[in-house]
Amino acid sequence: MQRRLASEIGAIDKHGAFGVALVYPSAYGAGMASLGYQRIYRALMEADGLGCERAFLDDDAKPGEPHPPLHTYESNRAVGDFPVLAVSVAYELEIAGLTQVLEGAGLSPLREERDERGPFVLGGGPLTFSNPVPLGPFCDAVVMGEGERLVVDVVRVLESVRGRAAQLAALAAMPHVWVPALHGEALPPLAQVDDADLPAWGPIRAAEAALSSMFLIETSRGCSRGCTYCVMRRSTNGGMRIVPEDEILGRIPLDAKRVGLVGAAVSDHPRIVSIVRTLTARGSEVGLSSLRPDKLKIEFVQALKQAGYRTLTTAMDGPSERMRKQLDRRAEIRHLEAAAENARAVKMDRLKLYLMVGLPGETDEDIDECVRFSSELSRIVPIALGIAPFCPKRNTPMVDAAFAGIDVVEHRLERLRKGLRGRVDVRATSAKWAWAEAVLAQGGFAEGRAVLDAVRSGGRFADYKRAFGALDAPKPRLRLPLTQ
Ligand code: SF4
Repeated sequence: MQRRLASEIGAIDKHGAFGVALVYPSAYGAGMASLGYQRIYRALMEADGLGCERAFLDDDAKPGEPHPPLHTYESNRAVGDFPVLAVSVAYELEIAGLTQVLEGAGLSPLREERDERGPFVLGGGPLTFSNPVPLGPFCDAVVMGEGERLVVDVVRVLESVRGRAAQLAALAAMPHVWVPALHGEALPPLAQVDDADLPAWGPIRAAEAALSSMFLIETSRGCSRGCTYCVMRRSTNGGMRIVPEDEILGRIPLDAKRVGLVGAAVSDHPRIVSIVRTLTARGSEVGLSSLRPDKLKIEFVQALKQAGYRTLTTAMDGPSERMRKQLDRRAEIRHLEAAAENARAVKMDRLKLYLMVGLPGETDEDIDECVRFSSELSRIVPIALGIAPFCPKRNTPMVDAAFAGIDVVEHRLERLRKGLRGRVDVRATSAKWAWAEAVLAQGGFAEGRAVLDAVRSGGRFADYKRAFGALDAPKPRLRLPLTQ
């Protein structure tokens, strides 16, 4: 802990009268690379009379084994001694980490088994944009959506109201706070901050973060596009809100050697080439969190190369043109070909393309088209494919689509690997874990509790399969094929 703290730049030194343990349910490296986590840290540290200290899932934590006692980095205080434990959950499979950090704090993960002597467990984070219901058995309340303003209001309520029942009632009356004990599985709408509150930026540059020593700042919030599988599409919180170029550049410390530009659609910022060029001229290395292929014109790719890029990474989305149209993507074959040509022109090492398989209506012919097309691209520039199985998510038009099934996904991945062997580097995330993610993405309280059972049994896939399989009367939406 001390070594990590000593290597950080920008940590805020403040001891608030009312302290929050701000916990990330993955290891330090992932937590400090999360702009959302850093934004909540800053919100609490800048609020009069409040403060927070950070804690993370232990680097060596193993499901099924007791988590070491969880202490904060700043003062080595036991997390269970704080009045509030706030936790940010990014995606479904991080719920396992939540159960582990709660046990590490000396608490029962289940809210029904806790009493007023322990901290109030407050959830939030990107998972709330889709389906946070499986958090319900663990969190006393959850801040829905954009939480940087609301979290301060919630903590002030917890500071001023005495007694757990009164706290829950007060929070349940707030428009964007979900109180599972009172609301059940019904969710309130997402919070949205004013444009004046943008951009989010992270004060801490952490040498041991996954994005080492990077200053993180958003260039826009939301997205103007309509990809049918995506939670952050234009219908979420009013679409894309763009931060003016001078506000972005004015916020970035001049001594930041590495800058991460973050957002759902960073390359859609109308001034992105100028922003990257200005930062490069200042001597900063620049990373962008998302590049759309139709935006990868030669001048932008040149700017990225000068900013330190060696791999050009963008989205192919679906394996075939037919699948990409179904997803309502603007990316077409000609854009991907142009991206490959431009990557070669500026001497990038490779072009990395992300895509999903297991899409509704997908057949082996779609995979074969991907093999043919990726092979053609690899004659222009070395190609790497990063593949994730499709998981239907709530708050998207594809919520009712089925997960394809583990066997189907594995068959398609094998067909891709075989077809591209020796020509294209193919990496894929696990079909089995995608199934578990898909169950949770559609799940409720029962599926959340099943995660706890699975973690306590060892956290292997077989434990999840058994725990989900043991649920009484699965709801219709949970009839996802495990195999076909
Ligand atoms: S996938 Fe990307 S481009 Fe498409 S809607 Fe989501 S954030 Fe926007």
